[in-house]
Amino acid sequence: MASFETRLFINNEFVDAKSGEYLTVYNPVDDSLVSDKISSAGEADVDAAVAAAKAAFKGDWGKTDPTVRAKKMRQFADMIREKAEEIAGLDTKTMGSAIGTQAMGYGVCADLFDYYAGLADKIHGETSYPTSAGKYKITQREPIGVCSGIGAWNVSAVLFGWKAAPALAAGNTFLYKPSEKAPLGTLALGALIKEVFPPGVINIVNGGGKTGQLMAAHMEIRQIAFTGSTATGRKIQEHAAKSNLKRVSLELGGKSPSVIFEDANLNLAVEKSMEGILANTGQICAMASRVFVQESISDKFIEGLADGFKKVSSGDAIGDPTLKTTHIGPIADKKQYERVMELIEVGKAEGKLVTGGVRRGKDGLYVEPTIFKQTPNTSRIVQEEVFGPVVTVHTFKTEEEAIEMANDTVFGLSACVYTESISRALRVTRQIEAGTIAVNDWYFPGPDTPFGGIKQSGYGREGGLEGLIEYLQTKTIQININTTT
Ligand code: NAD
Repeated sequence: MASFETRLFINNEFVDAKSGEYLTVYNPVDDSLVSDKISSAGEADVDAAVAAAKAAFKGDWGKTDPTVRAKKMRQFADMIREKAEEIAGLDTKTMGSAIGTQAMGYGVCADLFDYYAGLADKIHGETSYPTSAGKYKITQREPIGVCSGIGAWNVSAVLFGWKAAPALAAGNTFLYKPSEKAPLGTLALGALIKEVFPPGVINIVNGGGKTGQLMAAHMEIRQIAFTGSTATGRKIQEHAAKSNLKRVSLELGGKSPSVIFEDANLNLAVEKSMEGILANTGQICAMASRVFVQESISDKFIEGLADGFKKVSSGDAIGDPTLKTTHIGPIADKKQYERVMELIEVGKAEGKLVTGGVRRGKDGLYVEPTIFKQTPNTSRIVQEEVFGPVVTVHTFKTEEEAIEMANDTVFGLSACVYTESISRALRVTRQIEAGTIAVNDWYFPGPDTPFGGIKQSGYGREGGLEGLIEYLQTKTIQININTTT
């Protein structure tokens, strides 16, 4: 008997998929089967979930006072916090990320529900002063209806919270599809949802790309928020355009630069770069995977970073992801592992390996933290997202050169700048093409500020007030006050 839920969560019930199709997931620690009976939603299942969400929107939830919505959201947040570790264990089991990282993800998810609960009763409109013609205008922000989300596998709970929390705060109902690589944790939230929200308010369906496509092309879904690769993002946009022109927001890939100037605190730059490269085994969209160091300090920086990586490779920080002492687990699955190793081979052929570049141990899909230097900017390992613990380090002479190299990418998700000069920090952050930039730090998103990319890293924002506005539509009402004739 499986000790976790594998069915779909529709209308506050766990139900078998009508499709009769299932997903299979393996544990990347030892390749053991986790389950081959995870229900995968087909057309009739997606239709049922949308119908439940639509009925809830037209029914109780759509009429619920914002303060009541907020109260329920806070209650849900508390319940998530209480179960964070237990539920996180399900994601660790399927995609190998360290339990501490995944549990923190559920904590962030709870924080997102608290944050957006606080905004639920602060959705105000505007009035404009009547013109001499007697036109009085009111602008109000309204919910959209049935909203939806599709997520990647790296931090499932955060990706769910970023979408579901603002959607509910705005008064919408919601359908979510987690990644087929991490289908169990988010699904387990169904048991908590059932205790707090009316039926149909949040529905969760599992499935692969086919299920995602059904959602993106659905005529009754009014909005879709997507987190995943740029390639899939293009398809989502296409399905939306070909169906009902639903609203789309895209949180896509990144190849984020970290620019380190010679006046920076070198120890801090090394320490924060390690975090930015190795967090969640390098499987983070905002990871600082291209480091640009000013020539005069480059040898010292590379030496410091390589020492840090070697310590990680030889110590307890890498290993069994179910242990709290572990920070780096295996790569999520075989396909992802093979892609990481393929790009490592490209790095070896076109650049100079400093450290790592090999599988760690015989069992499990572990990759040693890896540094390359002297890789040309045109190399695939510099231009493509690796999504593993791999970094390329480059050197520069001038500020202008650093900015040019940092921007030489199709992505624009995040960036880091290390310098003690406030004017340089402001100058450089202004010129780097990215949606989020950290100074003397690695960028870590919080609930209260917008996160998202520019260029081919997507559009739309999650988090902060902007994240709420994505789930509201504006209506302008014009009233003629000159009704006496
Ligand atoms: P992916 O694009 O392969 O899959 C993402 C989701 O899309 C999955 O749920 C998948 O089932 C679904 N999907 C696949 N084909 C589809 C289709 N044709 N129509 C609709 N849905 C479809 O990405 P992944 O490998 O799961 O995740 C890694 C990527 O996610 C990386 O590029 C990473 O940078 C990105 N990511 C971005 C952010 C961000 O906030 N910008 C956060 C985390 C991950």
